[in-house]
Amino acid sequence: MQFIDLGAQQARIKDKLDTRIQGVLAHGKYIMGPEVKELEAGLSEFCGARHVLGCANGTDALQLALMALGVGQGDAVFCPSFTFAATAEVVPATGAVPVFVDVDPRTFNIDVSSLERAIEHAKANGLRPTAVIPVDLFGLAADYTAIEAIAAAEGLKILGDSAQGFGATYKGRTTGAIGDIATTSFFPAKPLGCYGDGGAVFTNDDDYAALLESLRVHGKGNDKYDNVRIGLNSRLDTLQAAILLEKLAVYGDEIEARQKVAERYSTELRELVEVPLVPEGQKSVWAQYTLKLRNGQSRTAVQSALSDAGVPSVVYYPMPLHMQTAYKEFPCDPSGLKTSEDLSHRVLSLPMHPYLSADDQGRVIDALKSALQAAVA
Ligand SMILES: *Cc1c(COP(=O)(O)O)cnc(C)c1O
Repeated sequence: MQFIDLGAQQARIKDKLDTRIQGVLAHGKYIMGPEVKELEAGLSEFCGARHVLGCANGTDALQLALMALGVGQGDAVFCPSFTFAATAEVVPATGAVPVFVDVDPRTFNIDVSSLERAIEHAKANGLRPTAVIPVDLFGLAADYTAIEAIAAAEGLKILGDSAQGFGATYKGRTTGAIGDIATTSFFPAKPLGCYGDGGAVFTNDDDYAALLESLRVHGKGNDKYDNVRIGLNSRLDTLQAAILLEKLAVYGDEIEARQKVAERYSTELRELVEVPLVPEGQKSVWAQYTLKLRNGQSRTAVQSALSDAGVPSVVYYPMPLHMQTAYKEFPCDPSGLKTSEDLSHRVLSLPMHPYLSADDQGRVIDALKSALQAAVA
């Protein structure tokens, strides 16, 4: 059994992928070919964002977004600590300071009371609160209504990091179309992944879109030999766009298949562990199915028993960012980031992908049940 089975998806759409790839080899427009525009239009239709720009990866997408928002020296950018490093990594590169915020113990996403404390702390330390990067962790959208209220009151821009959550629904909206700018990653293991590196930036704002268009091609003006600002070289390869077009065609269907896996896990495991919460009015794209072990349930013992039963499991994330060597000197919510720290000791992610068979789901559930019995301290 695989943790994420990309082979099963490939088998489903193999002929279509082959045709698309041959099409690119035939026209030879490897950089910014017609498939890039076609994909951008498809992504725009899927989530409802007015502008979509492909780029080289999800980390560049965040960096391009911060550059378009004009974030720089003296600015504070608020990030959750319980996330992948890329969320915060892009901030110091702009000259701004990442300020770490705690997460909600049930959704794993930004805790707005911690955000408010972190904003006050940043101001008291002479920083200008400029932007917040909510992360749609494990496929579940952050609590955008609450974040939007704080952002409006404080004049913060919202940059949604939807690397794991593109296509999730939140109170009638879809991630990608939420926030001043949103970003995603097409890293192969993400819910919508390509066969290499790739990413995209989304916005409803025409001015940001024009800036992003320039920034991704060396800060171009009329053409790439007319350089009007400092930019990046960050384009999505035509071949990756061609592959993504066929993956996007089945993505809606795959999101539904992921719901079924998650529902079965939660129904059968609810009594034994803390299963992930999806608040009313939301739908996760289940990048990960992440449960929390209870006190006395040893994660090391559970993982090794699962592994003996042939069931892979992964810990996302074993250490929150504010404790990492590279990030520990940056400011945090002064009340501490207790939930991020607690989660790092208790979370465990189970195999999750749209093609996980009913038999394999049963094997995961049975293996976890026996692992928990064996692992009671
Ligand atoms: C994967 C990921 C990124 C970065 O994406 P890359 O395409 O690997 O650069 C950013 N943020 C989060 C939350 C991610 O999971």
